[in-house]
Amino acid sequence: MKEIITSEFEKEVLQAGKVVLDFYSTECPPCEALASKFEDLSKLYGNDIRFLKIFRQGNRDLSDKLGVRSSPTLLFFNNGVEIAERLSGGIKRSEIIRNLDSMLIPERVKEIKSQIKPSVSEFDVIILGAGPGGLTAGLYLCQSKINTVLIDIALPGGHVSTTHEVSNYPGFIEPQAGYMLSHNMSEQTKLCGTIYKVAVDITRVDLEKKEVVIDEYETVKAKRIIIGTGTTPNLTGAPGEKELKGKGISYCATCDAKYFNDKEVVVIGGGNSAVEESEYITRFASKLIMVHQFDKLTANKQAQDKVLNNPKISILFENEPRLFTRDGDKIITEIENIKTGRRQKLVSDGVFIFIGMKPNIDLFRDKLELDQWGYIKTDQDMKTSVPGVYAVGDVISKKYRQITTAVADGTIAAMSIAKELD
Ligand SMILES: Cc1cc2nc3c(=O)[nH]c(=O)nc-3n(C[C@H](O)[C@H](O)[C@H](O)COP(=O)(O)OP(=O)(O)OC[C@H]3O[C@@H](n4cnc5c(N)ncnc54)[C@H](O)[C@@H]3O)c2cc1C
Repeated sequence: MKEIITSEFEKEVLQAGKVVLDFYSTECPPCEALASKFEDLSKLYGNDIRFLKIFRQGNRDLSDKLGVRSSPTLLFFNNGVEIAERLSGGIKRSEIIRNLDSMLIPERVKEIKSQIKPSVSEFDVIILGAGPGGLTAGLYLCQSKINTVLIDIALPGGHVSTTHEVSNYPGFIEPQAGYMLSHNMSEQTKLCGTIYKVAVDITRVDLEKKEVVIDEYETVKAKRIIIGTGTTPNLTGAPGEKELKGKGISYCATCDAKYFNDKEVVVIGGGNSAVEESEYITRFASKLIMVHQFDKLTANKQAQDKVLNNPKISILFENEPRLFTRDGDKIITEIENIKTGRRQKLVSDGVFIFIGMKPNIDLFRDKLELDQWGYIKTDQDMKTSVPGVYAVGDVISKKYRQITTAVADGTIAAMSIAKELD
């Protein structure tokens, strides 16, 4: 692997056959997460493809010329022509391999793959999920000198890293940008010495054996496992939703309703959480339109009555969102009546979507005792039904899902494990 500068780009990249070029920066957690994967793959593919790095801040003109806008970004070249999809952000090993393989003939790919040696590493504790729950558990375990690894399919931070502002996390007078709060949590845990394996693919989890296989070839073993994999909000699937998430579309009323004082909002959903959250949002918002796919609300009767008697709330039944767009400060929700097919546009200051959350438990669903909604049941020490396996944060069965409650769960699990392993 070689580091280059702008003046060498022509010779080292454009005239050099097959090349992968990493634009990296300093103080860049995703660049750190990529570094060991890039190094590792250079040993495997290095005879066929040149692995080069270039410092983005020091070679700004070249990165601007090539349209590189974030660090890290990987570019792939063949005989001076850029090929394959650019990769940036939390880059997974499997994504790089996919691009590298596309540059070689299948026989050579097979040969290279046969050289991959499976590896095994051992820790005291594996934490799955580096959101507030997992990061806090990692901090407490590390401070108790317990050898811990944090594994995440994405970069550390969890939901908080994509939250616009957090104003209810104690210790800060002013609201904090979500990405800064999660960055600080992550750095605190990392500085303590917790090992991070992030932006990885989880191939297999064996809760009984306390083994996690990542990126197909790397087995991580431990004495205890903490699951802190959080939840994923159900999406409507309408175009524009993903792009406007956190930029006008929210999935959390406790977190964001306060930013809609005297404003108008649209709520998608009509079940228990949509109804209860709508009631809460009208403490702030001046007007709220609920859009619900059925001809009546599906929430419990008591909650329904509150909404039906609330003068700020009106309901459009038998409608579904079809498109979300932004027009200046406003969000335009295009909805369609599912009976008549008639479309209309709702103009609002923000949209809340409450069509359910699902716990991220696909890899171990069958092994654990769950509540009726599919969340992991724990005792007061955060122990699950599988001995030696703990669960924390939003993924567990509980009433309130917030950063503070996830952090508390992480603390309890870590202290309980520390006592056990002592
Ligand atoms: C838009 C939004 C705004 C919010 N705003 C606030 C707020 O202002 N204040 C507040 O207190 N709360 C807020 N919340 C709630 C808060 O974010 C959560 O309660 C909190 O993040 C839960 O932390 P966690 O560690 O349990 O899970 P998460 O934060 O969800 O983190 C889970 C982590 O697990 C990883 N993961 C998922 N699957 C796997 C797997 N199979 N293997 C390994 N890792 C995996 C994910 O990549 C993620 O990093 C908000 C939530 C949302 C959605």
